[in-house]
Amino acid sequence: MKSLVVGHLFPDYLNIYADRGNIAVLAARAAWRGYELEVQALGTGVEIRPGAHDLYYVGGGQDREQALIAPELARLGPALHEAFEAGAAFLAVCGGYQLLGRYYRDQSGEELPGVGLLPLYTVAGTHRMIGDVLLECELEPGRTQTLAGFENHAGRTILDAGAKPLGRVVAGFGNDGESGYEGCRVGRAIGTYLHGPLLPRNPWLADWLLGQAIAHRTGDLPTFEPLDDQLEAQAHEISAQRAEARGGRH
Ligand code: GLN
Repeated sequence: MKSLVVGHLFPDYLNIYADRGNIAVLAARAAWRGYELEVQALGTGVEIRPGAHDLYYVGGGQDREQALIAPELARLGPALHEAFEAGAAFLAVCGGYQLLGRYYRDQSGEELPGVGLLPLYTVAGTHRMIGDVLLECELEPGRTQTLAGFENHAGRTILDAGAKPLGRVVAGFGNDGESGYEGCRVGRAIGTYLHGPLLPRNPWLADWLLGQAIAHRTGDLPTFEPLDDQLEAQAHEISAQRAEARGGRH
């Protein structure tokens, strides 16, 4: 069995809304393609060896948990930048997404340092943006796909001029409830507010991330045989319909 190595950043602190479920989906879909996913928890005091991981994952968390780990995550910043430059893939969800930016000014007004990998910053607002979300994305030029999930955040994320969002908001609040965009994408790094967890109801994104991770390890972007994703498609459809019926309006 070939292997892929995932660095799971601060799994004990940043893991709300079953974000850990994203790892389970990556592991299952990797195994169905002949890859064993080795998941390494990367917490306080860890050192990251260049090239050690094909994919980094960080989940969401309350302001309190973010404040507890932000200095440690920022300390890993240079190594994460090096890994990114060397082609490792990244998936960051909500609180983790915010901390991959330059900083997150939380609801107490404290400015939590970020990694600065994504061209953005976040400032908490007075009311939370909660609800089902539906996005339209174009990760591959000319190929539009949808992402469905759930958001719950006080943070308003502002992308730098020219920065690429992950998708256009069809229903929901997205980055700041105003821009009409959600998330951020830089090369093989994806940041998003979408919980759920995200990947069980959006298997195409799981495959995209796995493809990037395999390309990091082998140098070649694989072409995957389609899997029987009927259940995932149903979950996506239900989530998309809920978003359209109930999601916030930006
Ligand atoms: N604490 C952050 C906020 O409220 C992130 C929340 C989350 O990860 N769901 O915006």
